[in-house]
Amino acid sequence: MGKANFRPTSWEQYIGQEDLKTNLQITITASQLENRAVDHILLSGPAGVGKTSLAYLIGVMLKTKTHILHGPNLQKPSDLICVLTQLKDFEVVFIDEIHAISKEVSELLYPVLEDNTLNLIIGKDYNSKNINIPLPKFTLIGATTNLYHLSQPLIQRFPINLTMNNYTLADLQQIIFNCAQQQTIKLGMPEAYFIAQHSRFNPRIAINLFKRIYDYALTTNCKIITIVLIKVVFKNLQIYLGGISKLEINYLSIINNTFGNKPTGIDMIAQVLNEPVVNITNSVEPLLLKLGFLEKTNRGRVITVKGQGFLQKINFKKFENS
Ligand code: ADP
Repeated sequence: MGKANFRPTSWEQYIGQEDLKTNLQITITASQLENRAVDHILLSGPAGVGKTSLAYLIGVMLKTKTHILHGPNLQKPSDLICVLTQLKDFEVVFIDEIHAISKEVSELLYPVLEDNTLNLIIGKDYNSKNINIPLPKFTLIGATTNLYHLSQPLIQRFPINLTMNNYTLADLQQIIFNCAQQQTIKLGMPEAYFIAQHSRFNPRIAINLFKRIYDYALTTNCKIITIVLIKVVFKNLQIYLGGISKLEINYLSIINNTFGNKPTGIDMIAQVLNEPVVNITNSVEPLLLKLGFLEKTNRGRVITVKGQGFLQKINFKKFENS
């Protein structure tokens, strides 16, 4: 199975995100009825929640080519110009991590998004002149994990601005089950649900966990994936319910044991944990808040009764600095 990425190739295979799918289906149908390109789309949401897959699926639905670009690689105007000038009518250009494009590339995009035109300055100083190159009808799909790093003028030039919704455990169960259907070693819906419960509400993490479990089953010659087998893999990977890892456990343990669960400031926790504050706020706390283990008060962070119950259940006494 290795590097298989299980990208959905039909709306049915693209699980969850029902409102978003309905809106996109209407947009696609309307544009096809009038033979115009689908309006430009901006997708925002955390990593692994299906933005690239959605762009790819839109390309499949339009029966056209999707050019995949990465924001960090778009620093000089020429990085983008060479792609745009080779486009054919109705093709899709997907820019992942669009917040990482340079200011120059961003400014180049304004007339592209608004008038479908490349606005270039040729020559230098007194000899320079402005030329406008009309582009084919095409759809730009931008994806970002960090909407607040995009300039307002750029955001406003996308006629369709969509935020990915959260996935339910039932959605993730279905995604895992569908992946397993394509493999030789199978699993049932209860096993898929058990994996979903450990996947941090994220499809990419769910699929990656399934891949590790599958590898284990393959190498130990198991013909079917059972809960017992999954538990062994999670134990080896040190993954707990919800998808909690050692980092989150250390975080909880610092507040609970080191600071006696008194409201604690993020800087203090970051220092003891030896982790950058941004990692804690972006990766550690969202899951703990979602699971109801943590509360943010205006005096600091405290662990909820549910969070303390979890620590007791796994019998975790001390913060481990390793
Ligand atoms: P992003 O671009 O947001 O980082 P991806 O589109 O790369 O996320 O998705 C990560 C993985 O999860 C891919 O293997 C993809 O096929 C799968 N995936 C994500 N969302 C869905 C979904 N809604 N239905 C089925 N599979 C999904």
